[in-house]
Amino acid sequence: MDKTPDLHTHSTASDGTLSPTDLIKRASAAGVEMMALTDHDTVAGIAEAARAAKAAGLTLIAGVEVSVTWNGRTVHVVGLDIDPNCANLLQGLQELQMYRVWRAEQIARRLAKAGFDGALDAARAHAKGGLIARTHFARFLVERGVAADIRGVFKHFLVHGKPGHVPSEWAALAQALEWIEAAGGHAVIAHPARYGFSRGKIQRLCREFRECGGRGLEVVSGSHSRDDAFTFARHATEQHLLASAGSDFHGPESSWIELGQLPALPDNCKPIWLLPGFSGMPANAPA
Ligand code: AMP
Ligand code: MN
Ligand code: MN
Ligand code: MN
Repeated sequence: MDKTPDLHTHSTASDGTLSPTDLIKRASAAGVEMMALTDHDTVAGIAEAARAAKAAGLTLIAGVEVSVTWNGRTVHVVGLDIDPNCANLLQGLQELQMYRVWRAEQIARRLAKAGFDGALDAARAHAKGGLIARTHFARFLVERGVAADIRGVFKHFLVHGKPGHVPSEWAALAQALEWIEAAGGHAVIAHPARYGFSRGKIQRLCREFRECGGRGLEVVSGSHSRDDAFTFARHATEQHLLASAGSDFHGPESSWIELGQLPALPDNCKPIWLLPGFSGMPANAPA
């Protein structure tokens, strides 16, 4: 495996804009040989992705990106090489999905007070039957012309202190790691540079994460600069964590980088994909 695998992507099962099939086709055309589908709080896209991957001759790692509240802040934990049929995991994810439905109603109520009616129906339409994320509200607000792009909408409407913000209560860190562990997966802290944590806080997060059984840190991310990659490569080494890489691709129109463009890990990193048994969906994966 010379090419850096892409171990963090989204489909319409959560807030990506491509179906699992179209996502795999695009990745394969871009030369990706191994990738993980890691939708937010759901594995609903994995079966379709597995079928598409088989057809494309690409190795699919079953994954999920679990929303966690740690120290009052949202942190994302990617579970890699999970069993998508694990009852324990599915039950945990269902709790998060139910919470998302409630939160979406709250977001819509707040947006209505700010003068934007119909947000819930519009966000649901954008979600196309997948689970509902703030991204779907952001797409609705872009259509309403409140900001030029999704990033602008987040900044002015959907984050702390803004009209559509709802304080979130996701899974506890230990809880999320239990679900991933139960499903036989490896847990990775997603896009660590995005949290804006101090060096000390990152060290504390890594320590607690490792004590709960976490294995990896996303050193290379579509949303990381090259400097970020070197910074988090150092953290990974110091904290005895393996290194992961992922684009966090959400679709051609709204992504950090295109599929197949991930740089290599910094030299001193230990790639999580070299763990024994890290080999993707078995041939008898759910069809
Ligand atoms: P949620 O999990 O529903 O709170 O939504 C989080 C998702 O919103 C992330 O996974 C991103 O896809 C998207 N997102 C969060 N912050 C931003 C931002 N500043 N700009 C663009 N997208 C964002
Ligand atoms: Mn997202
Ligand atoms: Mn994330
Ligand atoms: Mn993501």
